[in-house]
Amino acid sequence: MRVPECMAMVLEQPHGPLQLRKRPVPKVMPGHVLLEVGVCGVCRTDLHLLDAELPGIGYPIVPGHQIVGRVAALGQGVTSVQLGQRVGVTWLAASCGSCDFCRRGEENLCDQARFTGYQIDGGFATHCVADAGYVFPLPDGYTDLEVAPLLCAGLIGFRCLRLCGEQAHRVGLYGFGSAAHLITQVARWQGRELFAFTRPGDLMTQTFARQVGAQWTGGSDQVPPVLLDAAIIFASAGELVPAALRVVRKGGSVVCGGIHMSDIPSFPYSILWGERHLRSVANLTRLDGREFLAVAPRVPVHAQITTYPLVQANRALEDLRSGRLKGSAVLVVASNS
Ligand SMILES: [Zn+2]
Ligand SMILES: [Zn+2]
Repeated sequence: MRVPECMAMVLEQPHGPLQLRKRPVPKVMPGHVLLEVGVCGVCRTDLHLLDAELPGIGYPIVPGHQIVGRVAALGQGVTSVQLGQRVGVTWLAASCGSCDFCRRGEENLCDQARFTGYQIDGGFATHCVADAGYVFPLPDGYTDLEVAPLLCAGLIGFRCLRLCGEQAHRVGLYGFGSAAHLITQVARWQGRELFAFTRPGDLMTQTFARQVGAQWTGGSDQVPPVLLDAAIIFASAGELVPAALRVVRKGGSVVCGGIHMSDIPSFPYSILWGERHLRSVANLTRLDGREFLAVAPRVPVHAQITTYPLVQANRALEDLRSGRLKGSAVLVVASNS
């Protein structure tokens, strides 16, 4: 039975903390669905939101963009999902569908795109509303908890890995958190070698990286024994860009996977020279989502999860910030998830 009220962890001002608020259940608009949230993953982007590092945040906002929920009401005209169906909601909440980017299949770059838990209330709540065209059916073999981290960490990681190029055999990962531990499993399954770089001296995370499949681990100040074909930077520290360029071979790629990064220090042209590529990954497309959710059960990708009740969202965010957390943090919203 639908509860008449919604409990939400709300960001009301820059730097928070999130406040537990009781609000009316959101109204479902035409073309949208109302979801009863089961669980919601916690992402570094939520920390950037908390720290007001993203432009144009409209307070109050409910964070959370790795949402697993069940359809509790259908807006007018929705036929693509059924009442009671389990679906996932990701970061991309909407795009215009008609601009040059959208028409080229680059809806992730659409200037009119809107994002869950940033411009539209997200899943740190018992209920949320999502555009029916942007929700995903989820693979049956995963529980709510297991599948939540795949919806951003896994998906963005997957897009980053693809942009390294199919020929990239030796891949470095800077920042070994949620995305890196998921994508290591995919990359190994694809036959690649993984090199994990952590904060210098973080032996606990290096041990974790080897457990999930990294062949080599070290601090971000170390140089691996061989040159890499590509590196993905998940950490938000700009000084990692020149560090990664220095360990990538000629013609190789450095892919920045985060939505925010501190300034990149100047570096000598010689470390970019030799046709090395440096690029960012921005958001995701629905095609990325469909492809990754098809690949994940075949690997199969398993998230290492730390759970928190919804009301402890602030603690989850601080654990993520401190680097204490191994793998992925997930908020448990419904008791039966
Ligand atoms: Zn995210
Ligand atoms: Zn567009």
